[in-house]
Amino acid sequence: MMRPLLVVGPPCPGKSELARSVAELTGRPLIDADTESLESHLKTRAAQSPIINVKSEVWLNRTTRVMALDRCVVVSVHDSVGHDGTRQAFHADSREDRLWDAALPAFREAHHVVQFDPQKLPSLAEEVTAIWRRDPMAVAAGDRTYLVDIGRGIVEERFASLLGRSATILLITDSNVECLHGERIEAALRATGSRPVKVVFAAGEKQKQLATLGQIFDQAQRGGIDRTSPLIAVGGGVVTDIGGFAAATWMRGLRWIGVPTTLLGMVDASVGGKTAVDFGDAKNAVGAFWQPSAVVCDIDWLQTESKRNFVSALAEVVKTAIVGDAELFETLEQERELILQRDPDLLADVVRRCVRVKARIVALDERESGLRAVLNLGHTVGHALEAQGGYGRWTHGEAVSLGLLAALRLGQRLGFTALEVVSRAVGLLKTLGLPVWLADTDLKEAAELISYDKKRAGSMLRFVFVKGIGEVNCQSLLLEDLRDLMPILSD
Ligand code: NAD
Repeated sequence: MMRPLLVVGPPCPGKSELARSVAELTGRPLIDADTESLESHLKTRAAQSPIINVKSEVWLNRTTRVMALDRCVVVSVHDSVGHDGTRQAFHADSREDRLWDAALPAFREAHHVVQFDPQKLPSLAEEVTAIWRRDPMAVAAGDRTYLVDIGRGIVEERFASLLGRSATILLITDSNVECLHGERIEAALRATGSRPVKVVFAAGEKQKQLATLGQIFDQAQRGGIDRTSPLIAVGGGVVTDIGGFAAATWMRGLRWIGVPTTLLGMVDASVGGKTAVDFGDAKNAVGAFWQPSAVVCDIDWLQTESKRNFVSALAEVVKTAIVGDAELFETLEQERELILQRDPDLLADVVRRCVRVKARIVALDERESGLRAVLNLGHTVGHALEAQGGYGRWTHGEAVSLGLLAALRLGQRLGFTALEVVSRAVGLLKTLGLPVWLADTDLKEAAELISYDKKRAGSMLRFVFVKGIGEVNCQSLLLEDLRDLMPILSD
């Protein structure tokens, strides 16, 4: 079923014409909506995949935008002089002017922006229909809103339309991905007419350091990479983190495309704009918020990922389901075997659902000032265990699995989490092959390390508890109390 198509834009000629034209082309029903009616149309008529032409004012409300970008494919229409021109032409009044000034970035929060031209109406309707059928996810970030495409064998086609004829491209990858998929990536880039300047560094978290960044800058300089050259990071979370940070800093900012090749990269690392390198043992200590301009998740890459890495990433998938998608949690419970066999269609659905949850949350809190903290479920204890194990004993996902267990048990002890929820979640983690037991001594050592958590404020720590599957909340805990409670994990 296709999600509804929403046509938005500031008051300008063309919005209704385009909506009507797409309706004629596709045979889908056309509805007009204001703020009140939009939600009810989405509840009652979504199954008909309608085209909804919404009043401009609707798009001024951020919560509505984030909800609509999640549940619909959104096309924003502006006239031939752009949104700015529209504003000047239609709103001479200065109060109105200021209103539309503030609103313009909001009209960039869409899956696709089209410039209306009555002469080109048939081809515009086809362009919009193609985006609608492609059904990408969007992460709302004002002018820097970007799309996440999820599918099979989509790299070549997406490179062609994302890159156009970029002369030079900075391509970042690691040694494993280069061995497995390097030829295909380079061929896909050359097919667009571009010249890739390639940087390949040794695989692994140990390379996520400033020295590797220096290596990337060195090659960028030699290869003549300037501000007009896009950067493409193809690999796991290490590559997209370091590639994204290189893009944020080289020449004060390049546009970059994330091509995650691991499950963790697809469901977590490549969405949200957090980029970083480690500094010695301090994970992600040097970094920046720098949104990609697109993310391409080619599910076929996941077939070659190692079993341990793949299963570890499932801990983040379970976390995401607990945070915001009860239906995903049920799918994981029911389709465990097929997921572990890496059934591509199922994995595409899992990745899509995880991206949706993360996109919804980061859109409302891009710089992690509040709401985004819920994504840290399981990470307070998880990070401490990773550090306690010297970043070698547990993978990040395994540590998160144990951290989830801690959050669930602590929640149960403090009366936030029902026993049934704990049993379901622990049962799922276990059947997916994730660790759910720890020795007392490890816990005591990890408890001491919790004081170094980045989210600590004095003697208090914001801790994420599970209220139900698909529902979490943050509570402030005294560090001392948290340390005292840790031993219950090994009960
Ligand atoms: P990774 O990038 O080290 O990849 C794991 C291993 O798999 C590596 O050896 C890699 O070479 C290999 N690999 C990658 N793709 C492959 C493929 N298709 N087939 C076979 N092997 C492949 O690790 P990861 O688990 O992808 O990500 C972990 C990193 O992500 C950490 O540095 C973490 O801090 C970061 N991260 C960032 C965010 C964020 O929001 N920025 C979120 C979560 C995790």
